[in-house]
Amino acid sequence: MCAIVGVFGNSEASRVAYYALFAMQHRGQEATGISSSDGVKITTVKKRGLVTDVFDEPTLSKLIGDMAIGHNRYSTAGSESILDAQPVFAAYQLGEISIAHNGNLVNKNEVRSRLIEEGAIFQSSMDTENIIHLIARSQKERLQDRIIEALEVIKGAYCLCIQSRTKMFAIRDKYGVRPFSLGRLKDGGYIVSSETCAFDLVGAEFVRDIKPGEMIIFEKDSNEYKSIQLFEPDPHICAFEYIYFARPDSDIEGKNVYATRKEMGKALAREHKVDADLVIPVPDSGVSAALGYAQESGIPFEMGIVRNHYVGRTFIEPTQKRRDMKVKLKLSPIGSLLKGKRIVVIDDSIVRGTTAKRIIRILKEAGVSEVHMRIASPTIEHPCKYGIDTPSYKELISANYSISEVEDYIEADSLDFLSVDALKESLGNDTNYSLVSFDGNYFIK
Ligand code: AMP
Repeated sequence: MCAIVGVFGNSEASRVAYYALFAMQHRGQEATGISSSDGVKITTVKKRGLVTDVFDEPTLSKLIGDMAIGHNRYSTAGSESILDAQPVFAAYQLGEISIAHNGNLVNKNEVRSRLIEEGAIFQSSMDTENIIHLIARSQKERLQDRIIEALEVIKGAYCLCIQSRTKMFAIRDKYGVRPFSLGRLKDGGYIVSSETCAFDLVGAEFVRDIKPGEMIIFEKDSNEYKSIQLFEPDPHICAFEYIYFARPDSDIEGKNVYATRKEMGKALAREHKVDADLVIPVPDSGVSAALGYAQESGIPFEMGIVRNHYVGRTFIEPTQKRRDMKVKLKLSPIGSLLKGKRIVVIDDSIVRGTTAKRIIRILKEAGVSEVHMRIASPTIEHPCKYGIDTPSYKELISANYSISEVEDYIEADSLDFLSVDALKESLGNDTNYSLVSFDGNYFIK
């Protein structure tokens, strides 16, 4: 997951990057960082914690220059150490370089072993460091060619922002797994960012999505950017970005995330009808789909569960015990609204089954007469290797149990999931999507 941002040609570059990272805090809360360049040197600040905890006025004042790249980290590869925070900075033969990466490289272990055999020393467990080493060891004269050489070695899902002292490169893998968009800043320069929700906050106008397989180059003293199509596009846009991960106000590949989630909810109502008194969402992840379900089914929508916003996302916590506790701290039912009612509860997905089980328990404790759980995505039967943090087969409940077994486990009166075909239809069926979590088609070989 993670979020990346790059800002070029703006006198407030590090501040723009800061606001963009703030808008994309949902993509990673473990660590954050910004590297800026004034054309002479690169300065980096990165730390564990939220964007607003790590950066303050004095810190941002140190990040001088009219270009900056930034990163929010959600650990999918690598450990939780501070050494794994990004951007990753290095001094090498051509000067200084800093990289921010979103995605997951599938051949990282092979590449790393080979580099170690050849004498490379690694500081972190991140796959991003492979890219730095490949660039540093390349014999090519220009940074651009060194990057291209490195990209020919790495395989996987990646969006990259690479900054030298005078240039910035924005690159999206040929599958376009993770989102990456280009915007023009109203007060000068450009921004590239994982999600378009960052654009509104910083006063940027959407230009276009970066194409799968494309490299965009920004150079000092040039107002225009260059584009090189490095690899033939083979689109596999991550469906999970639409289902859960991206913010509802973001547009990915021209499609608004909120609108697609509502479509999924409508499709779910058509596929899995139920007689009930109320539709309620699991807040916040099920809200858009529940609205769609209610509109399509004609069953009234109510916010029957209240969320305490001072608790972070439950999934973020590393141990099962803490996760269970956090669901309880986070969500509580409105008893007077729900008592004696037949309820359809909508969530976007079931991963381990923890949230669904807990929610059904609190609804039953609140006195509902029936709970029908409807999930606005298909059963997750395979771990994602391309940057979404879904756990191993062992922990994925739908990889191990049938729908009726999961229904028993979560103690629902009924349980149903959106079909893969209905998901594709809700997304518009106009491009190819990465559906690995659902169909196990690991397309990056
Ligand atoms: P679980 O409780 O393990 O079944 O996880 C399902 C809940 O976590 C749902 O409410 C989802 O909105 C949320 N969720 C699904 N996928 C992810 C993810 N990759 N990271 C964080 N949260 C997730």
